Amino acid sequence: MTRKPERDSYAGYRARLVEAVRSAGIRDMAVLHAVGEVPRHLFVPEALRGQAYEDTSLPIGNGQTISAPSTHARAIEALKLTGREKVLEVGTGSGYQTALLALTAGQVFSVERVKTLADRARTSLGAAGVNNVSILVGDGTLGWRAFAPFQAMVVAAASPDVPAPLLEQLAPGGRLLIPLGPRDAQVLTLVTVSDRGVQHRAPLSEARFVPLRGTHGFDG
Ligand code: SAH
Repeated sequence: MTRKPERDSYAGYRARLVEAVRSAGIRDMAVLHAVGEVPRHLFVPEALRGQAYEDTSLPIGNGQTISAPSTHARAIEALKLTGREKVLEVGTGSGYQTALLALTAGQVFSVERVKTLADRARTSLGAAGVNNVSILVGDGTLGWRAFAPFQAMVVAAASPDVPAPLLEQLAPGGRLLIPLGPRDAQVLTLVTVSDRGVQHRAPLSEARFVPLRGTHGFDG
């Protein structure tokens, strides 16, 4: 993000949200800063704007949900971003997590299968002044080969296993966060690949995400 969003009437709510996210245990300063900067009200349906700065998940239409800010923050904190990474996000949804990633990494490439959501996310990101993001409408289980390799990846939907194309497009030393498991319960898992290509999986927490569709998701 290069242009700071205008100071708006939600700034006070955002400051309180940062405190809520801090209370939830998030310590990464860059992540907390991003939560304080991103105008979440622009990423939720207008009727729900009054709840935009509560630390809760909300429906965003098309049967999808935007997670609670502390959930996004914990996920991004686990990626230990330095601000220089090229990140792949699978499942743009509202674009809120995309915006948090845009402030904590170098460049974000996000794939969303539902065109309506992708279009809306582009509009919200534009309104928020975020411009280091590219969005592709398509099957994110295939990754985004043209821009690989990625130093970090986040999959925002539940998957039975790690889609093979994502592992292929992950840079040596890269980190991939994905909720793994059946449709009704998953474990948020951090997959790391060493410089020599050795894969390691660390379970972080229990989670419940909407299903990842597509060739290497639940439809494959
Ligand atoms: N993190 C998002 C919420 C994501 S919900 C936010 O902040 O709003 C999960 C998203 O993954 C949904 O938008 C869904 O349409 C998308 N999705 C599911 N399967 C996909 C696939 N194979 N490729 C791309 N997007 C997918």
